Amino acid sequence: MIPVSCGEIAEVVGGELVGAEPTAVVDGAVVIDSRKAGPGGLFVALPGERVDGHDFVAAATTAGVTVSLTTRPVDGSPCIVVGDAQRALGDLARYVVAKLPELTVIALTGSSGKTSTKDLIAQVIRPYGETVSPEGSFNNEIGHPLTALQATGSTKYLIAEMGVRSLGDITYLAGITPPGIGLVLNVGTSHIGKLGSQDNIALAKGELIEAVKAGGTAILNADDDRVAGMRSRTREKVLTFGEAAEADVRASEIKIDGEGRPTFTLHHGTFSASVSLRFIGEHYVSNALAAAAVGSALGLTPEQITAGLNAATPISAARMELTERPDGVTIINDAFNANPESTRAALKSLAAIGRSRGARTWAVLGEMLELGDTSMAEHDAIGRLVVRLDVNRLVVVGAGAKPIHLGASLEGSWGNESAYVETIPDALALLRSELRAGDVVLVKSSKAAKLRSLADALLEDV
Ligand code: ATP
Repeated sequence: MIPVSCGEIAEVVGGELVGAEPTAVVDGAVVIDSRKAGPGGLFVALPGERVDGHDFVAAATTAGVTVSLTTRPVDGSPCIVVGDAQRALGDLARYVVAKLPELTVIALTGSSGKTSTKDLIAQVIRPYGETVSPEGSFNNEIGHPLTALQATGSTKYLIAEMGVRSLGDITYLAGITPPGIGLVLNVGTSHIGKLGSQDNIALAKGELIEAVKAGGTAILNADDDRVAGMRSRTREKVLTFGEAAEADVRASEIKIDGEGRPTFTLHHGTFSASVSLRFIGEHYVSNALAAAAVGSALGLTPEQITAGLNAATPISAARMELTERPDGVTIINDAFNANPESTRAALKSLAAIGRSRGARTWAVLGEMLELGDTSMAEHDAIGRLVVRLDVNRLVVVGAGAKPIHLGASLEGSWGNESAYVETIPDALALLRSELRAGDVVLVKSSKAAKLRSLADALLEDV
């Protein structure tokens, strides 16, 4: 963090110094994990689900932090005591970011692809200025300010991924880091259980477009009506991306190779160039166009943008991660998380790879969570899609995912190829006995359904 004194921090967060000198300076990392605490840093003691951060304040002090942000005094440790440590973290980040007028914040949201697109943007723009980008999917009211606090006077770009669970979430996050560029990727159905409808999801995500700073740029997906409709929520410049003819940054001639990697022609104004992505799945074309639009809004040339896209590699794990086992079985691990849109996209990619290789394809699917009343219908629809895409074998894992199996069985004369198993060990046993060289296996579920462990086990098998 840029140097800020304890007195200043206490004032910003409305806290009380207990055992801390007002002139002592924080100039190290701001952390919530005492194992990452170091000299000059600040430790934020948050109440966790299993542990209380206050139990680790002493360890953070021993590790050398200048002060800890706490909700009660801790004997022997310098503290700034506040009513709500999470709020205080946000207040501090907002204050620090406001002290960095040269910083351009690129904020993005969407139902699917935030982390993947964030990684792509970072790789495209990093050669042109020091960039801070969150690790993994650090996109909530804790991860976001922690990332923002990494920015310093020499940082040119801060990429901020923003997740939405309720109305107002993005207004809060964007208030911490007012975006010069606001990007909305898509409006799907994840978290619909909480927000009630896709229109409400659009309402919540559109808060990002309203937050774009004067002189900034809103970047919208021209292929998604709900996103394109957000144009009316800003007076700032709007740049669109997509396959639609009217998109400012457009893709045509999309092709998928035998590894599932897309190639396409990128058009921007009079410029056009061929792009070959190292990501798996046609849905990454949309993410790449979004990254290209960000590059353009920042003033990069089309040549710089295409070079960045061609060179970019997947960073975050378990998102369409394709591995060939020595025995000739290919595992596509997409089990970081799942919602109906990302599951459809993954299945289409699986089918495309199967077609181009002439391979037998397997979809191993677990539950998609947080779908509320739509859960049954969405799972059923995925089962039917598996049949329509002619995926050869379906393994449905866990009671919550069972409607996928039922949907597939009802869709056609497909009952023999769909198996329902209750547990991950059952699925593993079935796969171990039946997989053979040449098979391509997609593994996907929501995080909480834990099929990622199944993908890991399949990869450890040989
Ligand atoms: P989460 O909110 O769960 O962290 P996210 O929005 O950050 O997700 P990623 O982590 O990038 O998204 O990817 C999650 C899943 O969505 C992966 O399975 C990935 O392959 C898929 N995905 C990525 N981009 C898209 C897209 N444009 N459309 C549909 N699915 C996508």
